[in-house]
Amino acid sequence: MSLIVTKFGGSSLADANQFKKVYAIIKENPDRRYVVPSAPGKRFPGDTKVTDMLYICYEKAAEGEDFSENFAQIKERYNSIVRELELDLDLEPEFARIKSAFENNAGSDYAASRGEYLNGLILAKYLGFYFMDAAKCIRFNENGTFNSNFTIEKTREHLSHHENAVIPGFYGRMPNDTIKTFSRGGSDITGSLVARAMNADIYENWTDVDGFLVTDPRIVSNPHRIETITYRELRELSYMGATVLHEDAIFPVRQTGIPINIRNTNAPQNAGTMIVQDVDDAEDQKIPHITGIAGKKGLSIISIEKAMMNQELGFGRQVLEIIEEFGISFEHLPSGIDTMSIVVDSHYVEGREEDIINAIKYGVNADTVHIENNLALIAVVGRGMRRTTGTAAKVMSAVAKKNINLRMIDQGSSELNIIIGVDESSLPDAIDAIYHEFY
Ligand code: ASP
Repeated sequence: MSLIVTKFGGSSLADANQFKKVYAIIKENPDRRYVVPSAPGKRFPGDTKVTDMLYICYEKAAEGEDFSENFAQIKERYNSIVRELELDLDLEPEFARIKSAFENNAGSDYAASRGEYLNGLILAKYLGFYFMDAAKCIRFNENGTFNSNFTIEKTREHLSHHENAVIPGFYGRMPNDTIKTFSRGGSDITGSLVARAMNADIYENWTDVDGFLVTDPRIVSNPHRIETITYRELRELSYMGATVLHEDAIFPVRQTGIPINIRNTNAPQNAGTMIVQDVDDAEDQKIPHITGIAGKKGLSIISIEKAMMNQELGFGRQVLEIIEEFGISFEHLPSGIDTMSIVVDSHYVEGREEDIINAIKYGVNADTVHIENNLALIAVVGRGMRRTTGTAAKVMSAVAKKNINLRMIDQGSSELNIIIGVDESSLPDAIDAIYHEFY
């Protein structure tokens, strides 16, 4: 028998109908023993997530305004689920406790956390599973960072007495007993921690898409689904903005190599995407040479030119010190023999281009320094690149065929990605061209 930890996102638990699907998924496989729910999400486009309703409601309470109407709407989201599932569960005492905590300024983290807490109570009742409050075992340090050792140990200790359990996502406890949440989307992290603590064979993350797609479906219609991706590739793609899973959810399971399976609650028959430590060679041969393509806009490039730069000791360090003094952190650093380029988020340079240019120019005696805006980066990511030649050439020629000007090329030494820079306006065409070159 293996052990599966499942996490269900907000859309998977948005109403009673979605709860029924979740019930069927869990009951279908007795290995699905520990379940981490999010708060109820959007039921239809334009609907409001309960987490957002809680933030708004609490803000009113903290301002001393009347929040009874907002609170009543939140109650109704939960009560309608309880009613439609015909559960023998009275949440009134919980609501009363939460309301009075709101009146006593319990904090916005506490307020937001009640979304998962209440949903967890309902789900535990519905499934007949033990309810374990995440405040008992998910722990933060004094400085707000996350206490991994404590959490893993306590979670294991508590859950080992229970065959099955529901553990609400998104929040934990500070040393002073107040509630703290992870950043938005943080139930993914709770799921990952529970999987790690219980040494799960697999961490299933159930959402409303079939897994990761090779590229953005708003740019390429019907892109292929990624069947298998490594943690490292995923990290590269999520850095570029591909989101399905909270970025911090990868680290806990990665340490022990527990695979994550992204699945669709609305189409459980689909295999989804597997996120794994490594892919064996046989499997690797099957994939196209690239795994994913992601793009990121809003970047600027600072280009510095100086003859004989390569022979000047400390040149790069001095340039980086100057940009550090401006409080700028950089994204990429593609360099030539006499040129150095620094790719940065445009918000760092906006309105102070002149100052930055002068500081670098006179600071290191550069021949020329200039800043160009409206740059977009495209990362073509794939473990397959290591064993195939010509991937870079294919990427370049795909873009060239569309007459798109390449402003930058950077291939990481890990040979896991090729990053190219294009004008923001060419981003969709470039992604489309690269996708069709490989698929
Ligand atoms: N409910 C929280 C949010 O909306 C956390 C989560 O869903 O993972 O961000």
